[in-house]
Amino acid sequence: TAILEVNAISKHYRRGDERIVALADVSFRIEQPTVTAVAGPSGSGKSTLLSMLARFDQPDSGHIMIDGARLDSIAESGLDQFRNRKLGFVFQQFNLVSVLSAVENVELALAPQALPKQERRSRAIAALEMVGIGHRLSHKPTELSGGQQQRVAIARALVNRPRFVIADEPTGSLDSKTAHELLDLIGRLNQQMDTTFIIATHDVKVMQMAHRVIRLEDGRLI
Ligand code: ADP
Ligand code: ADP
Repeated sequence: TAILEVNAISKHYRRGDERIVALADVSFRIEQPTVTAVAGPSGSGKSTLLSMLARFDQPDSGHIMIDGARLDSIAESGLDQFRNRKLGFVFQQFNLVSVLSAVENVELALAPQALPKQERRSRAIAALEMVGIGHRLSHKPTELSGGQQQRVAIARALVNRPRFVIADEPTGSLDSKTAHELLDLIGRLNQQMDTTFIIATHDVKVMQMAHRVIRLEDGRLI
């Protein structure tokens, strides 16, 4: 069944007098649980599309449905809860908090829930073990390799057991071998936990492992 439906969304930005079309009439559906790569050259609209899926921003027209609910129907006050329950995010630059340890970074994603401290800690540890770095709990980001940092970021994205994870160039800062390992991990999480991944990328390795590749060019799906 379709977990995500994008229906004819368009988005433009203004830069001075210039009107920039970032997305033009884009429609697609994503079934669960799958891995979808969103490919396309720089400036083709990938980040704009991802930010609409997380409702960081809204389309000018068209609408998006997640799990049968229209994203534009979620009130501002319900957005944190929506993101917390349904989505995880992974970024090219990992976006970890440098003064916090690996386990504390993962616990941050649990902060909105009123969980006892011990419960938060054990869930964070379980998530880090799941991504293969249970032995690096108290390391700070600078004490971890790029691949390890990205695993912490994935643990943080998964700790709330979201239905899907949105990743923007997750292999972009990793060497080829580490990127391969990360993709193996994503494939395993997809199969074992039924997590649906949507990955904006330039990386052919991501396109090869994805069930499906969506290509954008000048804001259009081609
Ligand atoms: P990609 O992620 O594929 O590189 P983006 O979604 O970042 O593409 O950008 C799509 C187009 O929208 C580009 O032409 C980009 O310059 C433009 N754009 C993105 N964000 C903004 C913004 N905040 N203001 C103006 N133009 C923007
Ligand atoms: P790019 O490297 O393509 O220019 P940006 O730095 O603009 O990308 O954004 C990176 C990603 O972070 C985008 O997918 C964007 O949707 C997402 N993002 C934007 N605002 C937030 C936010 N407040 N919290 C988390 N992620 C965000």
